[in-house]
Amino acid sequence: MKVLVVGSGGRDHAIAWKFTQSDRVRKVYVAHGNAGISQTAECVDARTPEQMAAFAEKEGIDLTFVGPESPLSAGIVDLFESRGLSIVGPNQRASRLESSKCDTKVMLRELGIPIPEFQVFSDPHKARDYVRSVGYPVVVKADGLAAGKGSLVCDDVADAEEAIHQIMEKRIFGEAGARVDIEKRLYGRELSFFCFSDGYTLVPMVAAQDYKRARDNDEGKNTGGMGSYSPHPWLDDALVKTIMERVAEPLIQGLRETYHILYRGILYLGLMLVEEADGIMPYVLEINIRLGDPEAQVILPRLQTDLVEVSEAILTGRLKEMELQWDPRYRLCLIAVSGRTKGKKGWYKGYPERYKIGVPIRGLDAVDPSCLVFHSGTGWGQDGELVTTGGRVLCIVSTGESLSEAREIAYREMAKVSFQGMYYRSDIGKE
Ligand code: ATP
Repeated sequence: MKVLVVGSGGRDHAIAWKFTQSDRVRKVYVAHGNAGISQTAECVDARTPEQMAAFAEKEGIDLTFVGPESPLSAGIVDLFESRGLSIVGPNQRASRLESSKCDTKVMLRELGIPIPEFQVFSDPHKARDYVRSVGYPVVVKADGLAAGKGSLVCDDVADAEEAIHQIMEKRIFGEAGARVDIEKRLYGRELSFFCFSDGYTLVPMVAAQDYKRARDNDEGKNTGGMGSYSPHPWLDDALVKTIMERVAEPLIQGLRETYHILYRGILYLGLMLVEEADGIMPYVLEINIRLGDPEAQVILPRLQTDLVEVSEAILTGRLKEMELQWDPRYRLCLIAVSGRTKGKKGWYKGYPERYKIGVPIRGLDAVDPSCLVFHSGTGWGQDGELVTTGGRVLCIVSTGESLSEAREIAYREMAKVSFQGMYYRSDIGKE
């Protein structure tokens, strides 16, 4: 069969690679991909859902799998389905779970799913009155999509007032800040939890530990992710059961029965696990409607079951009959980013701030074939050489019997790669 993967980042590269591992797949296309992805699959210059649907029809694509949230929020699933094309991902209504934090929190409260205390505001004066009166630290969240940067964690009232000003009055996230969700700040352990869903049955995936901050020891700014590894260090079966029973299952059932939404695709729960008198309570901080990046880069290589089989089970409501097989070995993903460099106009601080692009990348041919290399921001330069095009550039995913072995291999292999200003954290997977 022919598969189309929608996306152009490291996660999407991992999805495309996973499909190439299937005996049932003859060809994988990616819309629109990047230079690294073009070495794994055929990249297609289709940018809008309409162009992608036209390509899928023309090329006779049997299955489409969507990586990122924006095409899902734009209704790509509804469009493909209206044309009789098979596509894996939540539809536009279900995508509101990620694209509106305010509506989602209201929905979760109605379904009785554990969430922090919260209020929604569209008037900044009322929002300010609220943060002055609540008496506990809050998190101020822009309602809409803000590329993972729309939640401002505040220490005190002054911080919260400033966050309201920035989001609602200065509109630093544009229209995404027309409303805010102001939540009680919780303290606990954070976990990203992923499931496959066919709308009735949920199958949890293995979990991954990710690293969001730019610098070692979790210092520096928040990023899209600097690395990850799996298996997860402390998620055990009892905790998985608690999350399934308290959050994931009531959510899918409630979406179906109360809101008439059949949630099909990947469900990503951003949780804060808080120790309470009667045990650990998983509070939902956010819901995403797709795989995480860089979690996918370590989760998918551990999945031994064919992703075509999983996709078909999602589309036909047969997940209940599936038992996923996972490789018990460790995978570790180390991400190289565009770091501090000198450019024509002085110094660039480097990702996640300003960085230089178009820098040639060397040494990838020397990377041991036991490792996977997934690209996020790469392209072809004028002379046909591989160059950087983004902040996160590429990652190396290693395999090991232990975390320390996987870590050693990933660092050893990354040392063979170079580009001007290249930076990676030195403590990914360090226990
Ligand atoms: P991302 O997509 O990067 O996960 P986001 O902008 O969609 O981010 P959230 O996941 O809601 O927003 O919040 C980002 C981070 O802010 C969380 O990972 C968590 O560290 C912190 N956070 C959010 N809500 C709370 C809360 N109620 N209490 C404590 N910390 C919180």
